[in-house]
Amino acid sequence: MRFDILTIFPEFFRGPLDYGIVHRARESGLIEVATHDLRGFAHDRHRTVDDRPFGGGEGMVLKPEPIFECMEALGIAPKRERIAAQVAAVTPAEDSGYRANDESARECVILMSASGRLFDQQIATELSQFNRIVLICGRYEGIDERVAENIADRELSVGDYVLSGGELPAAIVVDAVTRLIPGALGNEASAFTESFSPRAWSGIDGLPDSTAASGGLLDYPHYTRPADYNGLPVPEVLLGGNHDAIRRWRRYKALEKTYQNRPDLLQKTVLSGEDRQLLDRIRAESDADEKV
Ligand code: SAH
Repeated sequence: MRFDILTIFPEFFRGPLDYGIVHRARESGLIEVATHDLRGFAHDRHRTVDDRPFGGGEGMVLKPEPIFECMEALGIAPKRERIAAQVAAVTPAEDSGYRANDESARECVILMSASGRLFDQQIATELSQFNRIVLICGRYEGIDERVAENIADRELSVGDYVLSGGELPAAIVVDAVTRLIPGALGNEASAFTESFSPRAWSGIDGLPDSTAASGGLLDYPHYTRPADYNGLPVPEVLLGGNHDAIRRWRRYKALEKTYQNRPDLLQKTVLSGEDRQLLDRIRAESDADEKV
């Protein structure tokens, strides 16, 4: 997988992408990350990349020319051609003029934007299927809308808040997508790769693994040694070897956390009969707590 990041602050990515799993994926050649300084595509003496908004209003807007020119230099096909190739890849119409294995069918161009679709594990999984992902980072008041209209395949937001630039959001997308590329998680975790699919929660030994794998629930709590830290004990059940009791306890805790912090996710989760019993208990306990 190759990531190309268009930004006015290429140095920003020294750091966020240089640790742990993402670092290892870069070192091993599983992913490649290239940053492109938009100022390198400005032609005036001051290397201007922004300008005042038409129609008036606050702040500055990133100009379209450096972004269009950078895309051309990268050899990314124009949006119309890319979309046509993507359509041809799923419906190989003989007269479409595009081959299903056309390289541009495997390229995706993303604009980081507070008004984009909310980025989540499902989208990360979709993106992990591409060969090349281009991420465009905005600054100031944003980017000339012609970039969204004519270059980007999709606009993504990393949350309902406004950041100062698209660099942190782009690093988030690179990290979340990289984890999903087979091999990125290393030997110890690769056996669990399957359970990272958003729908499968019964992984190894039927234990749900991680937030993304629990069938839509949040993750269960984790503990490690010491079993008693200065009088703070690890839950008893985890110390015994009763795997079924551990599985039930973890499921209970995942349901409880989801009920408390993200009740919206419960609507989308497929619940078993056992889950519903556990949830009844959680509701009853939470009602009792409220009455105290
Ligand atoms: N005027 C815009 C905010 C611009 S912030 C608005 O009100 O929506 C400048 C840049 O930061 C944006 O162009 C975008 O690239 C990035 N950005 C800010 N918040 C973001 C978010 N939640 N998700 C993704 N990108 C974001």
